[in-house]
Amino acid sequence: MSDHRFVMPERTESITPFLVMDILERAKEMETEGVDIVHLEVGEPDFDSPVFVRDAAKKAIDDGRTRYAPSLGLPQLRAAIAETYKSRYGINISPERVILTSGSSPALQMVFASLLNPGDEVIMTDPHYACYANFVRFFGGVPIFVRTCEADNFRFSPSNIESKISEKTRAVLINSPENPTGAVMSSEDLDAISRLGVTIVSDEIYEGLVYDGADHSILEYSENAFVVNGFSKRYAMTGWRLGYLIVPEEFILPVRKLVQNFFISAPTLSQWAGLAAIEGPGDDLAAMRDEFKKRRDFLLGGLEKIGLKVGSRPEGAFYVLVNVEKYTTDSLSFCNDLLEKALVAATPGVDFGDGGEGFIRLSYATSMERLEEGLKRIDRYLKSLVHS
Ligand code: PMP
Repeated sequence: MSDHRFVMPERTESITPFLVMDILERAKEMETEGVDIVHLEVGEPDFDSPVFVRDAAKKAIDDGRTRYAPSLGLPQLRAAIAETYKSRYGINISPERVILTSGSSPALQMVFASLLNPGDEVIMTDPHYACYANFVRFFGGVPIFVRTCEADNFRFSPSNIESKISEKTRAVLINSPENPTGAVMSSEDLDAISRLGVTIVSDEIYEGLVYDGADHSILEYSENAFVVNGFSKRYAMTGWRLGYLIVPEEFILPVRKLVQNFFISAPTLSQWAGLAAIEGPGDDLAAMRDEFKKRRDFLLGGLEKIGLKVGSRPEGAFYVLVNVEKYTTDSLSFCNDLLEKALVAATPGVDFGDGGEGFIRLSYATSMERLEEGLKRIDRYLKSLVHS
């Protein structure tokens, strides 16, 4: 018999697993056995999509909007998105440059597919959103990391970026507000980075969820930039799978070709829902932001009380990166143990790169009551470690 052993292609083999999914799966398994778990690992708002968004989708179904959308997106929605950049930041963007995708994840993939030749380098932070390095490698690029640290508020400093620029550098990838640190880049840093002469890919998916200071888009500072954004976080629409890209003029046709081949179009019903989200009154966002801010402050205070003072105050998104180095340098084992013994699900920092080791990420996309319960359980667990 011949040996049919399958060898995974290198590009797939090199993708690192998403550890948080393992934690989530184990937590769900425990829940089916009747165990009560406090979920602090989740990366999506716990709010429902606004009612008028859901109504718009129902209407789209009733109106028979069941066919493919144009590959780059509904013209009305592209125009509405361009208009938001005018009203929020005072920037004029031609709707032609706005391309709808099935979530911001495919948007990131389209950017790297259209930018990277084999061996091209993309500079990013470490820690960073887990998928970034995988996407870059999958499209033949090489991620180059700039270590950011708690003592410096996880600042992605322009001078540190500059020191990594080589003739192979194709782009700098920024994410503000940032997952997993909650760091928000200052206007000065955005300006300085845009003067480095390198293309910037800016993941702005947490736009609107800034608690201290102002929101910014890279397009206020640079034209040599790709914006990745979407509806998942700002409008609590994770399940609708709707995101978008804003590309420099010369990339419209190349990206169009990619979208046509890979996706045909973003989901039509979701695009009608997205249009309603943008045209809506915006008070859902304001209410969600206020609630997240209250929870952040509560969680930071609670962590300090149990001896886990957070050195870098998160200013946006809905995550806190908590330093647990005094207990462990193996965040994965720590999170597994925390789940089994304390019944709290948290994300191991190492999921976000070597720079996240020694940390756990807690998400405050859950109610105050559950945060309070989670803090109590973590406190008990930490005390048990000290006494054992
Ligand atoms: N970028 C970042 C930084 C994220 O945290 C996420 C979701 N966790 C995404 C992109 C992907 O979001 P989506 O595909 O739902 O738009």
